[in-house]
Amino acid sequence: MSTPDEEACRSTGTPDPARRSALRLTIGYLYPSVLSQYGDWGNVLCLEQRCRWRGIAAEVLPLEVDTPIDPSAVDLFFMGGGADSQQRLIARDLVVVKGDAIRTAIEAGSVALLICAGYQMWGRLYRPFRGDDLAGLGVFDAETIHWAAEEQTKITDITSAGRGRMVGNMVVEWEGRRLVGFENHGGRTYLGAGARPLGRVVMGAGNNGKDRTEGAIYRHAYGTYLHGPVLPKNPALADHLIGLALQRRYGEVALAPLDDGLEAQAQAVALHLRR
Ligand code: GLN
Repeated sequence: MSTPDEEACRSTGTPDPARRSALRLTIGYLYPSVLSQYGDWGNVLCLEQRCRWRGIAAEVLPLEVDTPIDPSAVDLFFMGGGADSQQRLIARDLVVVKGDAIRTAIEAGSVALLICAGYQMWGRLYRPFRGDDLAGLGVFDAETIHWAAEEQTKITDITSAGRGRMVGNMVVEWEGRRLVGFENHGGRTYLGAGARPLGRVVMGAGNNGKDRTEGAIYRHAYGTYLHGPVLPKNPALADHLIGLALQRRYGEVALAPLDDGLEAQAQAVALHLRR
């Protein structure tokens, strides 16, 4: 059921100025109590704040295990990173309880930002370094194999665990811009023909440390290995996602520019970091 404001936007393509303050968006935060081991929830804070600065009402909807999803209610999904054991905790719920609704929402234009473990679980499959394979959502035509599973290496201690792990600062070229952050993953992600990479690795490993691709995009779903959290230091990506999320509900919406001086300084420092 669309609101008068949404109708007004649809007819004119832009929000009625008198109603602009009524702009709102709903962020569906998947498994906040399980997947935020690397501080990725900072991305949700960043989205909320960049909306608030523009008078856009952003509501955060926690989507924990067993919480059903109304596909029409979520403008932007977010899912963060975590260890293999945490992925195993949510795997069945993501695919069996939430899978159909999420795929319906993505096909209808909902936006998604998936970080590391979240990214892996939106592919077809994640093969951890021990235990059974975890079926993924299949939103991305991609599969991820932990380096130790791929090389059939036994991980017996922290030293052997670290040997093939992809850890360090990362720089990615996205749409002619540089994205900065850090990566920390054992999984190697391989994209199929149906997925396009988020960008090209300038420094770091990215998807698998071999083909210089990083992340994946399908419709308005964006997966990446960039932790940081990624959005505060990369405001152009944050605003790109906010714009797409508003577009789903209101049609094209021009976002008011923000003073990103501090963010630019943070990015400049990150661009000079070594691996
Ligand atoms: N457990 C996954 C891996 O090691 C994801 C890690 C993460 O979310 N940083 O590849």
